[in-house]
Amino acid sequence: MLDMLWLLLPVAAASGWIAAKNTSSKSCQPTYDQKCGPEYYKGLNYLLNEQPDKAIDVFTRMLDEDSETVETHLALGSLFRKRGEVDRAIRIHQALSERPSIEVNQRSEALYELGKDFLKAGLLDRAENLFKELSGVTNYKNLALTKLTLVYEKEKDWNKAIESCSQIKFEKESRNRSNIAHYYCELAEKAIENKDVDSAWELLIAAQLADNCCIRVSVLLGDVECFRNNFQQAIAQYKKVEVQNPQYLSEVINPIKQCYEKLDDMVSLRNYLEELVNKHHNTRALLAFADIVCQQEGSEKAANFMIEYLREHPSLRGIDFMIDLGLKRLDGFAFENFKTLKELVGQLIQKKSFYQCNHCGFSSKSIYWQCPQCRSWSTLKPIQGLNGV
Ligand SMILES: [Zn+2]
Repeated sequence: MLDMLWLLLPVAAASGWIAAKNTSSKSCQPTYDQKCGPEYYKGLNYLLNEQPDKAIDVFTRMLDEDSETVETHLALGSLFRKRGEVDRAIRIHQALSERPSIEVNQRSEALYELGKDFLKAGLLDRAENLFKELSGVTNYKNLALTKLTLVYEKEKDWNKAIESCSQIKFEKESRNRSNIAHYYCELAEKAIENKDVDSAWELLIAAQLADNCCIRVSVLLGDVECFRNNFQQAIAQYKKVEVQNPQYLSEVINPIKQCYEKLDDMVSLRNYLEELVNKHHNTRALLAFADIVCQQEGSEKAANFMIEYLREHPSLRGIDFMIDLGLKRLDGFAFENFKTLKELVGQLIQKKSFYQCNHCGFSSKSIYWQCPQCRSWSTLKPIQGLNGV
């Protein structure tokens, strides 16, 4: 509800401004309070009492009485779009942009809002045309290019997304570099899918040039090297993740393990995993390390190590691993009890999300490089600690 109030502040401002303008230029015009005050406050009251439909009726009536107020149209159109009534928003913004008397700036604003309506309605071709037109208008260039890039993202036209995103001037330069790296990664993934690893490699180098800190680039470069059977080089690529952001180590532990296994170098694997466990307390590395201890020194040694470790750094997956170790050594009644315990912990793990978007809070069981909810890139991070990956 507060969102709507914020949205309608321009209505108040615009109505007040128009009324003030009228009052100063024509003394016989009604004052702001006389003209729309009671109605406006009635609308606000409905909003405060969570009766948005009645509020919209009031504001629509205000428009009927004074159909020339551009700002009121814009605010009401945005309110409709926010409520999901995109058809009504489109009608308002379209009619506004086609008015012969509308000022150039106001027309651009109406077209920009109309573009957002089309985007929300999934009418991507129409949105694209409008944002392209507006990208040629100085005041709207950045806004229009940002939305145009969103259109290309939705269309999965990554080449055009790279082109339009490159022209945006973000407050933080790192943001468009990071997005561009992801667009190249999308193209590279497609190339890997088509087994065209040479093109994938070139695209990933372009991605790396755009953003040298992109975790996804390191993971995919590692995958390409694996595809080429260059396991040593693949390990080197995967290991970059530890330096870039150790939070994401869980994404490369399994591939690193597989590469060392291919090279039949379990000593290096064990040493590296032990180093990661001590330095970063990463659960995935812990489980891989404990598994090696179990294979090389037996389940009792692995269980002792795990107990010591879990006391300091408890995790559900660690407890699950401990139960597995117990099941290997138990029988009879104790075995049955541990089996039940395994089921219960399994259910707890099933219910947990292991990744969370630090922008909108969306959570999931697997990683998304682009948040499915807020569409931000690189914002889903592996959850650490007790409920960690
Ligand atoms: Zn999000």
